[in-house]
Amino acid sequence: MRTPFIAGNWKMHTKLDEAINLTEGIKNGLKGLEGKPARPDDVGRSGREVALCPPYVYLSAVQEALKGSPIRVGAQNGYFQPQGAFTGEVSFEMLKDIGCAYVIIGHSERRQIFKEDNDIINKKIKAALAAGLKPIFCVGELLEERQDNTTERVIRQQVEAGLDEIAPDNFQNIIVAYEPVWAIGTGKNATSEQAQEVHLFIRKLLAHLSSEVIAKEIRIIYGGSVKPDNIELLAVQEDIDGALVGGASLTAESFIKIVNGVKKG
Ligand code: PEP
Repeated sequence: MRTPFIAGNWKMHTKLDEAINLTEGIKNGLKGLEGKPARPDDVGRSGREVALCPPYVYLSAVQEALKGSPIRVGAQNGYFQPQGAFTGEVSFEMLKDIGCAYVIIGHSERRQIFKEDNDIINKKIKAALAAGLKPIFCVGELLEERQDNTTERVIRQQVEAGLDEIAPDNFQNIIVAYEPVWAIGTGKNATSEQAQEVHLFIRKLLAHLSSEVIAKEIRIIYGGSVKPDNIELLAVQEDIDGALVGGASLTAESFIKIVNGVKKG
């Protein structure tokens, strides 16, 4: 059984006091996360994994504010070299050293604005795994690609290149995030059927690259305008194992509703 995973990607938002307030609000609102199921049918309650991904500079403060909670921190990026003369960069070793558990890699904003290609993303995934972090590996098609019916081709290229030379045994440490680019920050989410179709395609691809057994264990989460009012329909889909949430993770109330809306586990 795959444990659902929900992560908040704060992008380049919040100031220090806002980051701490938001963290405390989420921590308090999700107090039951580590507890026993509230009702016998509430199977997911104790079985969800939650992460907050604030800007680098607030990682330690957010981690400190999360003390006593099972919620973990993740970074939004990292560099693949362990150390050296790389002005302005932060290595995965450093992120691990300060207590990060996860790191987002291959987000469409990194691909598009910062021109990160599949080769760099592959290097980053390998380096993050070597440092002991769990990569949240984002893939997704542009609107034109969906309209041209090339979604599967694009996703295949991204997945195959991103996971190149990674031992299948290590796949279970990776969370794949399907994020259609046309749905990110637009308020227009993929329908649950559209998302499920691509998630199933990714799972089959992962099985081909590893084995059916391994692919069944890998979390594939959906991202793209996830909100409290669409999460339930998305999360009940067989191959959707949680969510990567941007805008709606910036208020405690909506993020808590989203976590509580993931009713599997
Ligand atoms: C994201 O940044 O990964 C994302 C999915 O953003 P939003 O939820 O705002 O669409």
